[in-house]
Amino acid sequence: MIPIRIVAIPTEVADKVRRTMRAPFHRFPAHAELAKDNAPCRHCLRTFAVGKDRRILFTYDRFEGVEALPQPGPVYVHEDSCGRYEGDSGFPEELRGSPRTLEAYGRGRRLLGQEYVNDGKFEAAVEKLFDLAEVDYIQVNSTTAGCFTFRIERADRPVTSGPEN
Ligand SMILES: [Zn+2]
Repeated sequence: MIPIRIVAIPTEVADKVRRTMRAPFHRFPAHAELAKDNAPCRHCLRTFAVGKDRRILFTYDRFEGVEALPQPGPVYVHEDSCGRYEGDSGFPEELRGSPRTLEAYGRGRRLLGQEYVNDGKFEAAVEKLFDLAEVDYIQVNSTTAGCFTFRIERADRPVTSGPEN
């Protein structure tokens, strides 16, 4: 298995949205609500407890800090502060049961491969995509909703650096 790093959205982004109720992208207004479904928080990568957790919906560029061209879309974070998912923890277990699309990119946003995973066997799909030498990172999206969930990088070839990335 190729060593991987799971990259959730930076804490700085989540905290700023909580503080300003504005998206980092074009400062679009954010929206706070009680969770109506068990979508994941893009910061801690845990699923929301329906009718219990409060969350903020905002617009996020899923290529932020990685590519020059943006691709904004809707994401959620917990309204209250939460711990960022640890990058070396492997695939988030709470998300294993939901269908995800893995898109493999080379720098310059070149889409080089795609895998639809419905059976929870994410490691095999990640391995297959990273077997392509030109693949620099993988974007993980919800297959049913189409929203960005998190990024996967090669642990030995990170595309971003620093504690916030
Ligand atoms: Zn969270």
